[in-house]
Amino acid sequence: MTEEKEFFRCRECGVCCHGETTVSLNADDLERMASYLKMPIAELKERYLRETDGVVQMQIVEGHCIFYNGGCTVHPGKPWRCTEWPLHPSILHDRNNFETIKNSCPGIAKDISYEKFCEKMVGLKP
Ligand code: SF4
Ligand code: SF4
Repeated sequence: MTEEKEFFRCRECGVCCHGETTVSLNADDLERMASYLKMPIAELKERYLRETDGVVQMQIVEGHCIFYNGGCTVHPGKPWRCTEWPLHPSILHDRNNFETIKNSCPGIAKDISYEKFCEKMVGLKP
């Protein structure tokens, strides 16, 4: 068992792709996703994204990200925040955030302490 699997293993449950909001996309995300879907960024925005006060997110359809269909249908082109989830850097500065994420993601070991989780996360960085 790897170090990572001791404290996190994705169960591919899709919980993190559900809800009324999604992660936001930066300029690199837009380019990567448009390239993966082989369409201009303008068309990507029109068909799949929404923008509120300058924040670009995926559209929500029936309570989940528009790209969720039993799994991520744009896996190679998904936003970087989706790629790193749930190992989000904000956890390192916010115990409450850790508890919220831990409670929503069944892939995080339930018995791991906040301190140990942070230690493991920092250990993953190159
Ligand atoms: S909620 Fe956690 S376990 Fe479920 S798909 Fe997302 S990262 Fe994986
Ligand atoms: S882009 Fe993929 S991984 Fe990210 S929220 Fe949508 S379906 Fe989930």
